[in-house]
Amino acid sequence: MKKSKFNWGPGLFLITYHLILLVGLPLYFINHSPAAGLVITSAVLMYITGLSVTVGYHRLYSHSAYKAKPAVEAVLAFFGSMATEGSAIRWSFDHRHHHAFVDTDKDPYSIKKGFWYAHFMWLFEKPKEIENKVVSDLVKNPILSFQHKHYVALMFGTNIFATLVIGWYFNDYLGSFLFAWMLRTFVLHHCTWFINSLAHVWGARTYCQELSAVDNYMIALLTFGEGYHNYHHTFAYDYRNGIRWFHFDPTKWIIWTLSKVGLASKLRTNQRYFIEERLLMERKRILLAKIQSSYEDHKEVLKEKIQNLTDSAQAKLRLMRDLSERYSMLKKSPDKKDVVLELKEQIKVAKKELKQEWEYWMDMTKDIMSGTAASKISTPSVK
Ligand SMILES: [Zn+2]
Ligand SMILES: [Zn+2]
Repeated sequence: MKKSKFNWGPGLFLITYHLILLVGLPLYFINHSPAAGLVITSAVLMYITGLSVTVGYHRLYSHSAYKAKPAVEAVLAFFGSMATEGSAIRWSFDHRHHHAFVDTDKDPYSIKKGFWYAHFMWLFEKPKEIENKVVSDLVKNPILSFQHKHYVALMFGTNIFATLVIGWYFNDYLGSFLFAWMLRTFVLHHCTWFINSLAHVWGARTYCQELSAVDNYMIALLTFGEGYHNYHHTFAYDYRNGIRWFHFDPTKWIIWTLSKVGLASKLRTNQRYFIEERLLMERKRILLAKIQSSYEDHKEVLKEKIQNLTDSAQAKLRLMRDLSERYSMLKKSPDKKDVVLELKEQIKVAKKELKQEWEYWMDMTKDIMSGTAASKISTPSVK
């Protein structure tokens, strides 16, 4: 007998709760209006369960971007189960495949199979069997193996528990069922799914042009900070997705706060100048491609100029990286005060030179992208 390819459990659950909402919400509104507190509590619970997936399933387990105390892991497993996105082991197995084989057939939610496939149609297909070697670090974790083994009971148990408590508090069990469970799950699911669909089509490919993943702050607002997805696919081990302080990334803020109160440690990041070097290489590729496709004259001269500018900026970035590393290593040594002062001075000079390099680079970018670079070849204004 031919085996069914339909993923019955999750597939039926997804269809059922969408239907319940479609029918249940209009019927509910005929005779009721939900208490504002009930709606706010449901929204808060949506955010907590969503963050449990991004703080826990994604950055802690899929990418080992930091370490967390068992108490934090237990809370993440509790609310992660309530999020109804599978066990952390199942989720991380799929996600590690997504990163390793992004944009190929082996990517479980490849955007190459279409927007809606990447968004949620992939969930209706029977998933690949979990291979222990891909998640060997996670299956050893007692909290995760317990959650994996009892996932269905935990998923229903946590959701029924939350529905009953909220229903009792607001004296509205039907409202609690519809808003704090069904609608909350609907919003949370679609927000999480946007990371696999929208964050692979709508935005800028800042760090790597070859990846379908994009950076988009609007998507970050919807996805608990996961919208800087091109950066994330380029540097997946970084605990941050939004690397600037103003980037909207509540997942990063929570991990950072946990580390400050001793509940998380070993936060992995990229050094600033290492990231800038990656940016430099990516922009170089864009400019070379532009010259190749849009310029008739002076192609070789322009390419050489770009190469020279890149080499020079790269050397300055590496110097800055080296100086900063030495400075952070020695700054707390009381017997190295003179060396630290000297390093500070060198950093100041190197920063100035690097700023100048970026200015040359910006001028060159402007000229090449506007199509005026060839006409400026004989003028000495460009380095
Ligand atoms: Zn992705
Ligand atoms: Zn990831």
